[in-house]
Amino acid sequence: MKSSKLKLSSKGKKTISIFIIIICLLYLVFKDSKTETLKNEEKTETDNYTLKVDYPEVSNQYISTLMNEYIDSKKEEFINIANDINPTEKYDFSATYSYEKKADINIVHIIIYSYTGGAHYIREDKSYYFKDNTKDLLDINYFLEEGKTLNDLSVKTYYYAMKYVKDHNLNTTDEWVSDGTKSELQNYEHFTFNSDGLTIIFPPYSISCWADGELRITIPYNELNGIIQDKFLENNQKKPIIKPPKRDLTEFKDKKLIAFTFDDGPANESTNYLLDNLDNYDARVTFFVLGSRVSSYKDNLLKAYTTGNEIGSHTYSHLNLYKLNNYDILNEVVKTNESIKEIIGSEPTLIRPPYGNINADIKKLTNMYTVLWDIDTEDWKSKDKNKIAKNIIDNAHDGAIVLLHDIYNASVEGALIAMEELKKEGYAFVTISEMAELKNIKLDKEKSYFNFSN
Ligand code: ZN
Repeated sequence: MKSSKLKLSSKGKKTISIFIIIICLLYLVFKDSKTETLKNEEKTETDNYTLKVDYPEVSNQYISTLMNEYIDSKKEEFINIANDINPTEKYDFSATYSYEKKADINIVHIIIYSYTGGAHYIREDKSYYFKDNTKDLLDINYFLEEGKTLNDLSVKTYYYAMKYVKDHNLNTTDEWVSDGTKSELQNYEHFTFNSDGLTIIFPPYSISCWADGELRITIPYNELNGIIQDKFLENNQKKPIIKPPKRDLTEFKDKKLIAFTFDDGPANESTNYLLDNLDNYDARVTFFVLGSRVSSYKDNLLKAYTTGNEIGSHTYSHLNLYKLNNYDILNEVVKTNESIKEIIGSEPTLIRPPYGNINADIKKLTNMYTVLWDIDTEDWKSKDKNKIAKNIIDNAHDGAIVLLHDIYNASVEGALIAMEELKKEGYAFVTISEMAELKNIKLDKEKSYFNFSN
């Protein structure tokens, strides 16, 4: 025993010094990364897992850091589990957030889904309420009228929750709803204001069975007079129906056609830069947006739509639809379509499922036209504008659908370089619907469109 202990100690010394060096290196890396500007998007694929993270972008740097640290801690937990095993099917991690501003309060609702085997994704919700310039996190009590308590709100919530579960015939009990809506802060951690009223978000299993998924209970503004402060009760003006301009397609009749499509957005500068440059190539494109992002980047979504580009759905949270039950698939689809409608006044008809994962049953549920791609630029891997452009130019053909992501500057720049070159080669750049019209193809909800080549 003794000799083996001695032997170990010389090895041990070596181990300890290597360990100290690693700790120092980690400290340096960590120290640097903390002072770096905030990242906002991450996409990774390994043999063990797929991972997609949207980091919230808000002007309050202190709260941004707080939120990003929370997401990173969840991400690291997941990676440790995923790397530890040899999964038969890939594990998956998705962090998305939605952003709203009501009066002077910022509202960020983060949803993290992780799939590490088993029947379904595990979901974790976290919401942040804060002003632009203070470090304070607010809770529901802050929004109450002076002299009112959470109990006043809880009574209304119970009533509207019961009405909802009865209307929708959900699998729950009076006791369950009563418990989940009673006046405890933990029941009111997630809420948002929309055009109809105050919506309390109940994550799955809070007031009904897991299969019913997330429930959003809206209490109309007129019911909240005297309970919620007046400044939060102003009804957002309902948007008029917007009719986007329709292009005269006759000039494209004899051209070779390409549909550029952009997933995972909308984003801020990169999307805007793309929109500002499309006219140079007489181009219109299709955006497959994430429902979780549209309220954060509503100006760019509206700009894309009103300038004649097409808006399609890329679902709400970028989950693998094969791993969801029917209700959750519908929830991903309906929530996205409603978020888009809230901004542009109409629902999309096209869908691109994350990872291209779709089958006949899911198509029946979505009841939309499935658009995939046949030129995969792998832009998110290379993030190299010249490589991306070359990939498009080398593979270009009449009827092609190009897959890109407008969340990366390199993708947008690469697309514009390719358009410059392909325009000289006699190509025109059209949306999916324009392509179908020009090719005289009536879209079919049972099909998947990889291209519109004959
Ligand atoms: Zn995607």
